[in-house]
Amino acid sequence: MKPFNELLRPNIRNLKPYSSARDEYSGAAAVFLDANENPFNAPYNRYPDPYQRELKKRIAEIKKVAAENIFLGNGSDEAIDIVIRAFCEPGTDNVVSIAPTYGMYQVAADINNIKVTKVLLTDDFELDTDSLLGATDEHTKIIFLCSPNNPTGNCFRQEDIKKVLDGFEGIVVLDEAYIDFAPEKSWLKKLTQYPNLVVLQTFSKAWGMAGIRLGMAFAQSNIINVFSKIKYPYNVNVLTQQKALELLKENDKMQQWVHELLEERTRLIENLKTKDFVQKVFPTDANFVLLKTPEPKKIYNYLVNRKIIIRDRSNVALCEGCLRITVGTPEENRELIDALAEL
Ligand SMILES: *Cc1c(COP(=O)(O)O)cnc(C)c1O
Repeated sequence: MKPFNELLRPNIRNLKPYSSARDEYSGAAAVFLDANENPFNAPYNRYPDPYQRELKKRIAEIKKVAAENIFLGNGSDEAIDIVIRAFCEPGTDNVVSIAPTYGMYQVAADINNIKVTKVLLTDDFELDTDSLLGATDEHTKIIFLCSPNNPTGNCFRQEDIKKVLDGFEGIVVLDEAYIDFAPEKSWLKKLTQYPNLVVLQTFSKAWGMAGIRLGMAFAQSNIINVFSKIKYPYNVNVLTQQKALELLKENDKMQQWVHELLEERTRLIENLKTKDFVQKVFPTDANFVLLKTPEPKKIYNYLVNRKIIIRDRSNVALCEGCLRITVGTPEENRELIDALAEL
């Protein structure tokens, strides 16, 4: 990896962050008259903990990483934006990403005026590591990977991810939004070996909390410290922190959901494979299924008329004719299957 300070944008390297009232005094006091809050309407009258200490402590236990290696944001989307803002000088630096993949890397880069070079996956949706590394230049600060990948659903080979981490001088962001559904292990436990690795996870999928907007980034503490410096001081609100702590007390709830969704996924795939209009159901390590059909638009519109919404991915690179279907409750999947039976 390049020296950390060389990777950072100069203005971020030199940034003196906003110091909030809760930064200057964060202990347990009896009387808080420091932040111009309204003293009534507790507990919502108080600013949230800017460093989300209690929540990070709990997440640290669950994920088996130190709290200093955790950044929490308003969804993974905040972490995606922040990693770009930390390292990429607008108009000068660039990032490399795969195609097809999650759309937010491109959008966040566009907003920050950062060029994205996209490298196609192979025909079987694997990483083309030589082309990925070959697409980088001296201004490439970040490579975005997503495993299991959206919308293809597959995990990339560990040795391919390792090749990218070892072969690139800059930051590798590995988005593991769907890792709880996957048989593969998370890269979290390899954080100490890779100073250039940023792992993203989220409460929006397996944890069932897309509505509270809570995303996680894990990295070595020098990177996390920079993220903390440039985020909005109170980026994770009181309600979100409370609700997440509540859910995390229920130890095996997420595992139960995952177990049930994986069983449902198997049932759904078996059913889809029997359909004439389905040319192929791609293997998936996530809570969605990608299938190929000669008539994606027709099937999409038919289902919309039945008030069932899936995702038409047929205009996406390598996904010609493809539809993406999220695994729902048993009742929802039944409705989908019944509707398709009458197609
Ligand atoms: C759904 C998804 C996310 C989640 O984003 P949040 O902002 O945390 O809701 C992140 N990455 C990928 C690839 C996704 O599909």
